[in-house]
Amino acid sequence: MLGFRPDATPPRGFAASPGPEILFRWAHGGARGGLGVDSVSSRRDKAGMNDTRPPVRPATALTVEPCPSCGGPRPGPFCPACGEKRLDPAHDHSLRWLAGQILEGVLQWDTKLLRTFGTLLRRPGQLTRDHLDGRRVRTMAPLSLFFLTSVVFYCFFERAYAAPVQVLANAYANGGWLGNLLHYDIGGVLAAKAVAAGTTAEMLAQRVFDRAGQESKVFLGLLVPLLAAVLHALFWRREPRYVPHFLAALHLFVVFLLFDLVFLFGWRLAGADAVSDLMFLPLLAGFGVHVWLALSRIYGVGRWPALGPTVVLLAALTALILVYRQVITVVVAVLT
Ligand SMILES: [Zn+2]
Repeated sequence: MLGFRPDATPPRGFAASPGPEILFRWAHGGARGGLGVDSVSSRRDKAGMNDTRPPVRPATALTVEPCPSCGGPRPGPFCPACGEKRLDPAHDHSLRWLAGQILEGVLQWDTKLLRTFGTLLRRPGQLTRDHLDGRRVRTMAPLSLFFLTSVVFYCFFERAYAAPVQVLANAYANGGWLGNLLHYDIGGVLAAKAVAAGTTAEMLAQRVFDRAGQESKVFLGLLVPLLAAVLHALFWRREPRYVPHFLAALHLFVVFLLFDLVFLFGWRLAGADAVSDLMFLPLLAGFGVHVWLALSRIYGVGRWPALGPTVVLLAALTALILVYRQVITVVVAVLT
């Protein structure tokens, strides 16, 4: 133990012997002392200790300005937090830019619109599947699609879902609950209102029916959350959250409105002047096939397993519409 010393100090002569580093310095003509000073000052330079000049900032530091939209730092032409683009008045406030924007907006809208409706109608359920899988930028957002279709539906679909007043009045008179779910004496009320307004009950009934037909187009979208609840109940094992079912219901409902419009035009072309309740049957059959294919694709079940849910959903839709048109007609009769 005593004879063994760890090498705390190097053996004599080792430090004095010129190492490869010293040979290198000498070979490049540097004096030992000078080199030492140089290396100290360069080390200080690196640490910024004896530098009297203002510190040189990196190039990007000069361009960092707060984002005018969110206030965060924006090092480049786009804000990393909110995506706001840096304003360049020479370009962004020029007429050329405006013309480009209009053209781009119209063309993009056009492409997106065609792609969205094309996917919706040609591949039932694919648009919903795309949204649920995160493929969203190339097609319209579900609610935008719904609002756009609703506006078109409102403008072109003349008489939507209103219950004929006489049918409601007869159901009340006969005590039939199914034909007048709110059990509202619409005949009696309208007769009394007609006397007060100096008109006939028939004219008032016609006015209520027409107005309810208009109003029903606005609030028909209220059926979407209810259809979504039906889908949620049918497929909760496959998808426990409600919102995916809501998106599915929204897309299916848009197709339903489009089918309505197509069938209305078909009926008109066939020469029918008044659209009757019979119209609903071919509409339901056509829409039913779409729902069947869509449910199969959205929920990833085969064709045959999708058949039962399709029948349930169509029955629910029919029942909801029958209730809806009674309610809207009664509400309009109350408010008239
Ligand atoms: Zn921002």
